[in-house]
Amino acid sequence: MKAYIGLGSNVGTRQTNCLHAIELMSRAGMLVTAQSRMYETKAWGVVNQSDFINMCVEIEIPLTPFQLLEELQAIEIQMGRHKSYKWGPREIDLDILFCGEQIIDEERLKIPHPYAHLREFVLEPLAEIAPEFVHPLIGKTIVQMLRRLQTP
Ligand code: ATP
Ligand code: CA
Ligand code: CA
Repeated sequence: MKAYIGLGSNVGTRQTNCLHAIELMSRAGMLVTAQSRMYETKAWGVVNQSDFINMCVEIEIPLTPFQLLEELQAIEIQMGRHKSYKWGPREIDLDILFCGEQIIDEERLKIPHPYAHLREFVLEPLAEIAPEFVHPLIGKTIVQMLRRLQTP
């Protein structure tokens, strides 16, 4: 199954953190098939903190979405992510944005990620690697959603 992961870091060596997370993902058996550039972005939601590096990767996985979540959370912990407040500073944040066409709506796991279509720091890197991917709930492509967000 094809999945898209959003990476974010605003603590420590941010670029290295992102690259290390990708390395750990591939070591965990995820095949990384595409990777965006890194973007420096202002913190979203809670603004009084350091800027983030954000990027997106496309992976091919032999896992269910819940197994994927567990693997990604293990990597976050392994990389020293401390318990922080929602949207607070973190060494690495690994969000599942999409898992093929799947739709999951549970507290522990919501796919598509409920804010994906509202975040420029998600859509801009995603537009590099999956411009024509259609949001399974909204029915619009990544590029269409990005344009809508950027139109005043
Ligand atoms: P946001 O999800 O708005 O980007 P966040 O990344 O700061 O916020 P976290 O503290 O990293 O939020 O995650 C809180 C919980 O969200 C996780 O424990 C996880 O179970 C749950 N969760 C729900 N849907 C997803 C998803 N698509 N990807 C990753 N975690 C998710
Ligand atoms: Ca997040
Ligand atoms: Ca997260």
